[in-house]
Amino acid sequence: MNYQTVIGLEIHAELLTRSKVFCSCSAEFGGEENTRVCPRCSGAPGSLPLFNRGAAELAVKAGLALNCKINNFSAFDRKNYFYPDLPKAYQITQFFSPICSDGYVNISTKKIRINRIHIEEDAGKLIHDDVKKISLADYNRCGVPLIEIVTEPDIRSAEEAKEFTAAVALALKYAGVCDARMEQGSLRCDVNISIMPEGSEVFGTRTEIKNLNSLRSIGRAIEYEYSRQKALLEKGERVIQQTLHWDDATGVTTALRSKEEAHDYRYFPEPDIPPMFITDEEISAIAATLPEMPESRKVRYSNQGLADADATLLIADKALADFYDEALKGYNNPKSVATMIIVELLRRMNDSGLSAEELAVLPADFAELCKMADDGTVSRGAAKDILKQMLETLKKPMDIAAENGMIMSNDSSEVETAVDKILAANPKAVEEFKGGSTKVFGFLMGQTCRTLGKSANPAIIKKILEEKLMK
Ligand code: ADP
Ligand code: MG
Ligand code: ZN
Repeated sequence: MNYQTVIGLEIHAELLTRSKVFCSCSAEFGGEENTRVCPRCSGAPGSLPLFNRGAAELAVKAGLALNCKINNFSAFDRKNYFYPDLPKAYQITQFFSPICSDGYVNISTKKIRINRIHIEEDAGKLIHDDVKKISLADYNRCGVPLIEIVTEPDIRSAEEAKEFTAAVALALKYAGVCDARMEQGSLRCDVNISIMPEGSEVFGTRTEIKNLNSLRSIGRAIEYEYSRQKALLEKGERVIQQTLHWDDATGVTTALRSKEEAHDYRYFPEPDIPPMFITDEEISAIAATLPEMPESRKVRYSNQGLADADATLLIADKALADFYDEALKGYNNPKSVATMIIVELLRRMNDSGLSAEELAVLPADFAELCKMADDGTVSRGAAKDILKQMLETLKKPMDIAAENGMIMSNDSSEVETAVDKILAANPKAVEEFKGGSTKVFGFLMGQTCRTLGKSANPAIIKKILEEKLMK
């Protein structure tokens, strides 16, 4: 029998606030173990949380970026559980009244609905030493603000899950909400997955795979879990609802614990933090700070005539897309500018390990270079050299071209003189050409180009050479 996979995701994203969510410790990634802690975030009895409103602002931004309704009223709750990375023995989260609800993200195949986004605090990190057989706790991450984005079970394949996660990560980066570095754990994903016979409408029992930290492992874990659940059903056994751990090295899921229910956590309203009110005016003010989002940007680029793949490549990096937009202001030829960025600039940036944020070349200078290549001021080959020098010296393209004798001669009399000289020096080749051998044309072209040097304009040489040979 064929089975349909059903998937819902819970994405945790760390918010880019400078300090933690309920105290003033630094929220930055890393740091020497247990140096970014205080009585509040390490759970000292009697310490009181103080809400960092910057976290609410970023959560609202995330909600707007993911097409959610922003709730004027939201509140914090206590989720009680004991684990060594959680010194308070409860997590402050928004269970009953989240800050955002009912959003969606468009992926290439469909719309994936978002049920809710809520704010919560992160837990610390346990470091297991397999040699000494001990576990150490680092509380630096305790109290770093997170949002949790919970989808409806609308996803039907590993591909869709990866595309959705990538789209969320990109939207959060654009909005300045989260740096979405999956490898550092600033964006991580829990996958809820079940299968049902194809054509059925009744969802099967789900399992939840915790803490996946790359698109690749999301894909692999889903494929593995699909096969495991399918094999169980085919043997006539049942899928047990449980929480699983994915091991990237062995490529299998293992059971962590049986699935807990909400009532196991004894949720109750957090007594130490007042509810939060956000006015419509505050929401509008936050909305006004958002940049154009990747989705609408892509539509705009497609309307400019860019190929889908090129538009996708540009929007994948906001700094690069900004550079492109700025360059267009200097030379409004979208295809030409995009091609120069994708083919030449990106290659050079890759070679030198330069990111778009670090790019010091001015978009206006880059635009000028594209124009010079298009209007024949310099040859395509010279344009590549000029770009290389621009990246190294930040000089203006026209200055580089002039200093290196790269400005093409469009003076046909100069070309004519050169062509005449070459034809006179190669009577045999001329004869062969007239006898029908077109092969020698390239040879004569090459000779003329060499005589004229870097200023050679191939188009003009070709035209004059043809005219003279046809006579
Ligand atoms: P819980 O509170 O137990 O975590 P939720 O109802 O909040 O459960 O759902 C958590 C996630 O699981 C959501 O992303 C949801 O879309 C997904 N989900 C719910 N039921 C299923 C199912 N049968 N198969 C796959 N995913 C599911
Ligand atoms: Mg859950
Ligand atoms: Zn602290």
